[in-house]
Amino acid sequence: MISIKNKEFLFTPITDYIISAEKVAHVQVGNNAEHALLVLTKTGYSSIPVLDAQDKLKGLLSMRTVTDSILGLAHIEYERLPDLKVDEIMRTELHTIKSTDTLQKGLDLLIDHPFVCVIKEDGTFSGILTRRVMLKKFKKYIYNIE
Ligand code: AMP
Repeated sequence: MISIKNKEFLFTPITDYIISAEKVAHVQVGNNAEHALLVLTKTGYSSIPVLDAQDKLKGLLSMRTVTDSILGLAHIEYERLPDLKVDEIMRTELHTIKSTDTLQKGLDLLIDHPFVCVIKEDGTFSGILTRRVMLKKFKKYIYNIE
């Protein structure tokens, strides 16, 4: 059985595991839902951050949110996409983390979310911490225990 005796590992800051903002696909609050759908489809990501003109994190947008917003009674109303703004449909209840926070905090959040946004004190978006990066880190750690 594997036991992680050295809990110090969990107190390592997440700093080195962040995918930095410039490498993260995102949309802007003023973009329309058609543009957002294009970005989601082209990148293949299920959910991406929404930023304002000052690079502050404002929400998250997923394929499901976009589809939900144009769901009519009988069919999907694609023609409404250009008139819907991202900030009208994005999710605003966010779980965020700071770059100085620990792997333990990251791990707790990534159990329920595939990625978590990293922000500065003033709300500026600085990147994301993903489940994949965290699992790779744990795999490396566990394989080197004995
Ligand atoms: P992963 O753990 O690599 O599968 O990523 C989990 C989720 O994080 C993806 O489904 C996306 O929603 C988001 N994500 C990962 N990398 C990026 C990126 N470069 N840009 C935008 N979103 C990303």
